[in-house]
This record gives sequence, C-alpha cells and structure tokens, in this order.
Amino acid sequence: MTNYTIQYILDKEERERKARLAALGAVIAIAPIIQLEPHIPPPPLGSKVIHITDLQDFCRCKRMWNWSSMLRRGLQPAVSPVPLFFGSAIHFALDRGYRGCVGQPVATFDLRAALAAFKEWIAQHIQRTIAYSGPLWEFESNQIEDVRRLGILMLRHYALWARPLDKLFRILGTEYKFKVPLPGFEDHGMEYAGRFDGYLEDLKTGERFILEFKTAKTIRSRRTGKTASNIEGVLRGMQAAAYTWASGQIYEEPARGVLYRFLAKYEPGMPKPLANGGYSRAKTIRSSVAWYQYVLRKIAAEKAFQNGEGETPPKEVVNQFYESEIAQATGALAVLRDRQTIQAGLVVGNEFFLQLPMTKKPNQVKGTLDCLLNEGRRMISPGQAIYPTSGFHCNWCQFKAPCDMVAYGHEDQVDAILDAAYGPRTYWEPEVQEEY
Ligand code: SF4
Repeated sequence: MTNYTIQYILDKEERERKARLAALGAVIAIAPIIQLEPHIPPPPLGSKVIHITDLQDFCRCKRMWNWSSMLRRGLQPAVSPVPLFFGSAIHFALDRGYRGCVGQPVATFDLRAALAAFKEWIAQHIQRTIAYSGPLWEFESNQIEDVRRLGILMLRHYALWARPLDKLFRILGTEYKFKVPLPGFEDHGMEYAGRFDGYLEDLKTGERFILEFKTAKTIRSRRTGKTASNIEGVLRGMQAAAYTWASGQIYEEPARGVLYRFLAKYEPGMPKPLANGGYSRAKTIRSSVAWYQYVLRKIAAEKAFQNGEGETPPKEVVNQFYESEIAQATGALAVLRDRQTIQAGLVVGNEFFLQLPMTKKPNQVKGTLDCLLNEGRRMISPGQAIYPTSGFHCNWCQFKAPCDMVAYGHEDQVDAILDAAYGPRTYWEPEVQEEY
C-alpha cells in the first residue's frame, strides 16, 4: 500500500466524520463553533511588564531586544511566512484537545477537537495573511498544504503516544495567561507575565505540574545521537523555575515544576509494502509501533471493504485482516520496538515525542527570581546600554537586516528599513519558535 493510498484512507475517514456530523443535523458547522482568540496583545509600549522570552532576548542580544521589546521599540517583521506560524497552530490544537477534560478524573486528549481547531486556525490565519499582504504565491500555498498535512499527522500520532501517559494525570486547567507583581517592585508596577499551556495533577503523587508544549525540529540530534540542542537549551533556561515561582503566586498549591512535552516536527513514516509481500524492515524506518498499528488497522479495514464486506465491515472480519497485517509486519515492528523509547518515571520519549518533568528546588526558584529582579531592573532602566552580541542565535534573528546595516556602516538607513519592513508588535509571545 502506497503513501498515497494511506492518505486516501485518512481523507476518507475525515469525509465519513463530516458525513456523520451532517446526518446528526450538526451540519459542518465547525468554523463558527471555533472562536480563535486574538493574539495576546502586548502591553502598551513602555509598560513595565517582563515576559520570559523578553528576558531571554535581553540576555542574548541587547540590540535585538531593543528593537523588539515593548519596553523599547516594540517592533516585529511586517509579514512572516505562513509556515513559521506552525507552532502556534499546534499549541491552539493541543489546547482545544485537552479543554474538554478539565476537572475530569483523568486527562484525555480529544483528537477530533484538536484536528478541527488546527484546521480552523490555519484557515483563519490564511485569511488574515491574505487580508494583510494580498493573495498567496504558489510556493506559499504549497507550504501551507505541507504544513496542514504535517500538523494533522503529528496530532494523530501525538494522540496515540499520549494516550497511556495522560492516564497518569488530571488536567486542572488549560491555557492560562498570567501577570504577577515582582516582589519589591510593587510600587514601580514591574510585573512578570507568561502563559501556562496547562496545569496538571500527578495522580500518583498528588503533585502539581505546569504543562508546557514545545515543537522542536528534532528530539534527538542526528549528529551526536543525544538530545537535540534546542531541547537542551529549553531545559537549561530559566522558564521552568520562573514559571514554578509564578505558580506559587497564582495557585494555592504551587507546582513542583514544569512538565515539558516536546513534539518533533516530522511526520511518522508509513509501512512500506514489499513486492513479495510483507513490509520493509529497513533500519532507516522512522516511525513508531503505535503508528504502525494504527495504520495497519486502517489498511485492514480497507482490505475488508475491498473484500466485499460493505462500508462498515464487521469488527471480527477487520480483526482477522488486522492479525494478518500484523503478522506481515512482524519484522518491521521488531525494528521499531528495538529503538523504542526512553522510559524512566515520568521521562518518556521516542524520536517524535519527549515528556520531561523539570522539578525545581526552592533554591533554584529563588535564584531565578533574583535573576528576574536584577535583569528586570536593568531592562526598565533608561540608561541601559544597547550593543550587539552576535552568535549562533543570529541565524534566526528577525532583525538581521537592520543589524547588518549597522555592521556595514549604514546606520543612517536603519530607520528606513525598520519603517519599511517592520511594524508595531502585535503579539505577546513570539509566534516563531527558535530552532538550533
Ligand atoms: S543579528 Fe545577531 S547581533 Fe544582530 S541584532 Fe540579531 S542577534 Fe543581535
């Protein structure tokens, strides 16, 4: 069975879902049901509100921070390529996937709600982009199609991976935007702000965790075979301790730390049928046992249908076909099982997904709070010197063009570039996640 045929099955499943909804009288009214929240507006220019990403920018490069921070110029590129907004669409979908189980005894991910939210987010984002910058170029349309396909497959795969893990938790809340005063600065109005993707209770220990999703280019570095550097960067950063502190200001029962869930941005490989029967067991397969089982079941249902069993073949018949598919894929499944996953307590992962709890001790939380206060004081100081700090992070800096102007001695043209290619910042958190 080719990838094309499997895509056909996925599309067919979607059509059937819509037909069921229509039959129920619900008519395909998904779009009006999902209200996209506007981007979190940033505070007005000059407000003394410190965001963790702003603090990270400040520590990384004062010049970039000076152009982007709402404490200073508050600028962003006027137009960003649509696929770069992928992380936000996935976050939105994950939020909608978990909203329905808030307060329930056990966390459950509603894939259907997540997929509908993802598609709607992309559709509305395209509308906004067209309204802002005109019709899409062909390459942009192609990128959007790729992004849609990737997101749908990632969410389906995530649902399979997360199912057993979610049983360990109860969801107390999903996306929550907070703003808390920084101690000692109440009179100055200096506040710390951020967003929790969720708040969880570990059913075994009763401990609370902040849930934080991150999309990542890779989970494991292909170069070293170790955890990818973008993930290590997140884990070394201050976010986990700063969020842990903030949770103590917001909730009666503060969190022990942050439970990170990383999602690698690649689609799972499909079973590759061999000419002489069975499926490829090549060591290069990039997939997971759960995904193979899911796809093999779809293939079994399709074969049962082709066998003349009707649109909804009896379960026993599908099961027979499924057993046969599993038997043919034994070698491939053994390859995938061999490189399954890290699993130690709450640390669970494979090359697609990784769950990592970062618990924080009181001295770590205090150290980060000290940092917030000290760096925050510098950030709000009008006398703070502005200078560039170049490094690997320049690769994804959105202000490379004006920065290069200064480097080449054309300072007089910087304002023209900022006027032409940048506009007022409209978001609070960066939409584009960094890739190392
Ligand atoms: S390109 Fe590098 S040095 Fe220049 S503003 Fe960006 S991060 Fe700073």
